Amino acid sequence: MAIRIRYHGCVDALYQDCTMLHVDADGFFAAVEQALDPALRGRPVVTGSERGIIAAASYEAKARGVKRGIQLHEARRLCPELVILPSDYETYGHYSNRLFAILRRFTPLVEEYSIDEAFADLSGCGALLACPLEEVAAAVRRTVARELGVTVSVGISLTKTLAKLCSKFRKPDGQTIVRREHLPLLLRRTPIAKVWGIGAASAAKFSDHGILTALDFARMEAAEAHRLLHKPGYETWRELRGARVFPLQTEAKARYDSMMKGHTFSPPSDDPRLVYAEALHNLGAALAKLRRHAHLARELGLSLRCQDYSGLAASVPLAAPTCHDCEFAPLLRRLFEALFERRQRYRATLIWLGGLIPEQHRQLDLFDETPRRAAYGRLDQAVDRMNRRYGRDSVAPATLLNRRLKPVHARDAAPARYGNLARGETIRHLAIPRLTLGIQV
Ligand SMILES: [Mg+2]
Repeated sequence: MAIRIRYHGCVDALYQDCTMLHVDADGFFAAVEQALDPALRGRPVVTGSERGIIAAASYEAKARGVKRGIQLHEARRLCPELVILPSDYETYGHYSNRLFAILRRFTPLVEEYSIDEAFADLSGCGALLACPLEEVAAAVRRTVARELGVTVSVGISLTKTLAKLCSKFRKPDGQTIVRREHLPLLLRRTPIAKVWGIGAASAAKFSDHGILTALDFARMEAAEAHRLLHKPGYETWRELRGARVFPLQTEAKARYDSMMKGHTFSPPSDDPRLVYAEALHNLGAALAKLRRHAHLARELGLSLRCQDYSGLAASVPLAAPTCHDCEFAPLLRRLFEALFERRQRYRATLIWLGGLIPEQHRQLDLFDETPRRAAYGRLDQAVDRMNRRYGRDSVAPATLLNRRLKPVHARDAAPARYGNLARGETIRHLAIPRLTLGIQV
């Protein structure tokens, strides 16, 4: 029988300064696919068929040497029975939000670091949680596994850099808690290249100086660490020694300088109608995001990438900052006509919006065509609302129909869930969890 230990009184003294928690989901995209479809459990599963490169691999696939970033044909050679799925970022995003919501039951101080990673600060939560850190980590893992059907690895230590090392220490479905007195044990077993923020180039520089482990690094003199790595490396050095330098960023990003949307299509095409439709599709997605975050752009850029990966790019300033499709579309046409070359085959288009300002900083111009702007605004609002409700591109410019000029390729297959919606579901708002029951005969 499990014995539940309850601490009374000064519980925070129990955690002391060891309160930074890092959670990292194990093979997240592939794990979500396995959680949704029991027939995939225990099988080697990867996602990323639409790009031709593995985006995530299940642990069964990893055991066969299949890793993120390798080409699909290489993965098939390593593991002929590999299940290869298209990415379904919509669903992964929903799972991600639910993972963060679970963490917020333990502490309100949560930083959503990436789609499958978060930091959480347990400072001041001792009295509320009333159990040792080992039990907190186990409860996080247990809750995520029970409610989402995926596993996570948890690390708890003094700083973000140390907590991230801890969560990597035992994977998958593991937990590692390292308090101040045991830091040297962790650091001694960590190769320097595994430290968050130390790249391959820095690691090579370190090995020239005989520094191979995180402990060698943490034991350097302060001045030497600063000289060798400058400020960012010096901050990492301090974090490894247990000083909290990197703050928890609990606020969602509120200010943007630029936004980009790009898409690679296959096979490459020399049809200007298709390539333009691809660029316009990216523009629509970038502008919808711009409006969602209440920003305006002062510059539009377009880049066309050729089959041989060479590319051309150009940008154009706008007369006044704006966020409306109707004002950007003619500029995109001009950029496209300046860049597109016949007899060239293209594989990708990229749009960027530059010189962003928050909407409330817009200066009203005496000659501003306000009624026209207001009409554009109402139109965009209505389109955004319908697309949010009924799924992306439910309402879109007719030019986007030219995207269908692309020959159909196996890679274009949509995630199976999109063709199998329950009543009341839209692609954009898949109601999760929704299990497909595998019937074993
Ligand atoms: Mg992960």
